[in-house]
Amino acid sequence: AATYPEFIWQNGKIKPWTEATVHVMAHALHYGSSVFEGIRSYETPKGPAIFRLSDHLKRLYMSAKIYDIVIPYTIDELAAACREVILRNKLTKAYLRPVAFRGLGGFGLSAETPTEVAVATWEMGPYLGPGVLEAGIDACVSSWQRMAPNTIPTGAKAGGNYLSGQLIAREARRLGFGEGIALASTGLLSEGAGENLFLVFDGQLHTTPASAAILNGITRHTLITLARENGIEVIERDMPREYLYLADEIFMCGTAAEVTPIRSVDGKPVGEGKAGPLTRRMQQWFFGLFDGKTEDRWNWLDPVG
Ligand code: PMP
Repeated sequence: AATYPEFIWQNGKIKPWTEATVHVMAHALHYGSSVFEGIRSYETPKGPAIFRLSDHLKRLYMSAKIYDIVIPYTIDELAAACREVILRNKLTKAYLRPVAFRGLGGFGLSAETPTEVAVATWEMGPYLGPGVLEAGIDACVSSWQRMAPNTIPTGAKAGGNYLSGQLIAREARRLGFGEGIALASTGLLSEGAGENLFLVFDGQLHTTPASAAILNGITRHTLITLARENGIEVIERDMPREYLYLADEIFMCGTAAEVTPIRSVDGKPVGEGKAGPLTRRMQQWFFGLFDGKTEDRWNWLDPVG
């Protein structure tokens, strides 16, 4: 059975995890009307720090804006809540989950409901399983496509989007793969169930663009910045499925997945069938932000204490 941390922040107060309940008729439970974030904190030489906290919270408010969900707190208040739950639970290396959702207050789709907000945190290792950061995962192309751009906006990190993510992730696990990669409604490459996608060709990084039904990932942006900083060319472009079979290296990235190498796609080895050299370097630059080996020139690390 899962074990849970002691405290959670809900609607302005710290409370015991077990008391953070919601009414079964809350709007979000029926219609997917929630927006959320996934954020990590790391143990750094300067103490525990939350990675790109304000960028994640800005994206939370942008997701809320798309759906007219009014968050009754300021970004600073939610940032303080994030720090507080980590401190109260005595965590350092943790995952943070702020969520804002339409609560109880009406049953119509366009009902004006009160917004409820919570911030949870828990300890989390590598998202796609132990050892995957070194060994890489076997991925497959999903039989499920991502949403078309004029259906559900993938640029919002909304609860309902993750019905698509669940179909992709569960199908992949059922077939024995570590993760699924989705195509967009155009038939071109999109992203993983909960990760952005990078392909390496001739030492250059190629990643799918916003128009390919992706979430505009903060890890993706981090890696683009670190790569360019180190003289690696990064190209945002549409790519056809077969590029997955032709790339020298492939990796996925996200707050939860961090930088996860992909060693095969649909049973075909990627490059030499293991984490490639540029993938390794991207991991070093990325994780270097947390052990102090990569200088944080962007003030991405937000101290917890
Ligand atoms: N795409 C999807 C669908 C995701 O859920 C995530 C995880 N939030 C990402 C990409 C990666 O985004 P980020 O790096 O901001 O965590």
